[in-house]
Amino acid sequence: MRRFSLILSVPLAVLIFVIMASAEPRTAFVKLADGFDYPVGKVGTVCTGEGYYVARGFRPNGHLGEDWNGNRGGDTDLGDPVYTIANGAVVFAKDVRAGWGNVIIIRHNYRDSDGTIKTIDSLYGHLQAILVREGQTVKRGDQIGKIGNNRGMYDAHLHFEIHKNLGIGVDRASFARDYSNYHSPREFIGSHHALKGGLGGYPMAMNTFTARPDRVLYAPVDDAKLSSSEARAMRAGYSRGKKKSTHTKKKRYTLVESGAFAG
Ligand SMILES: [Zn+2]
Repeated sequence: MRRFSLILSVPLAVLIFVIMASAEPRTAFVKLADGFDYPVGKVGTVCTGEGYYVARGFRPNGHLGEDWNGNRGGDTDLGDPVYTIANGAVVFAKDVRAGWGNVIIIRHNYRDSDGTIKTIDSLYGHLQAILVREGQTVKRGDQIGKIGNNRGMYDAHLHFEIHKNLGIGVDRASFARDYSNYHSPREFIGSHHALKGGLGGYPMAMNTFTARPDRVLYAPVDDAKLSSSEARAMRAGYSRGKKKSTHTKKKRYTLVESGAFAG
């Protein structure tokens, strides 16, 4: 019996060591974001979003990001460049397949208006190509990937999110789907376009995700099917908003300015 427990205890000790070593927080020193831009539509050196529109906007407990599509509609934006919205470090760059496909997550340190240093994640989904690797630092406006359709699951578009909570990653099932964990991307970028940067690096925790492989979202991230509340919002959007009907050929999304959408 004693011998048995000794045989067991060695691999157990190794296992505990490996788990503890992997759980050890990893810190990088990363330059502050001196402001945030849009993830597509570079004009000169600045990503203004020119040539793109948001087909589906951010809605708490609904769509947790924005879907950026090319103005010419359909798959005309397939392969278009996707840019990092600010200085930061790549904390995730993987094909997670399922509803996401290729996903890049970039972490950004920035100085908020109250002077405190804050950290957010920007997420870029359904990419055709990933052009960065985990651990790499990136500069505002660097190309990081290409717009994709996740193996034909969607019309080509960029699914784009901003996370306040650095634990989310691609495991959104464990977190409240509201402003406590997410920013509305255009709202955030609009109010953080120009910030005070700095020359030095600020500490940034690199491995904060609580995601487990079995928690990755298998349903489409951008379901063409609407929930009843989404359908209500869509109808409201139609009556309120300016409809732009020329954008999509396949009609999977019909844009209204309010950010609502049609299936
Ligand atoms: Zn989306």
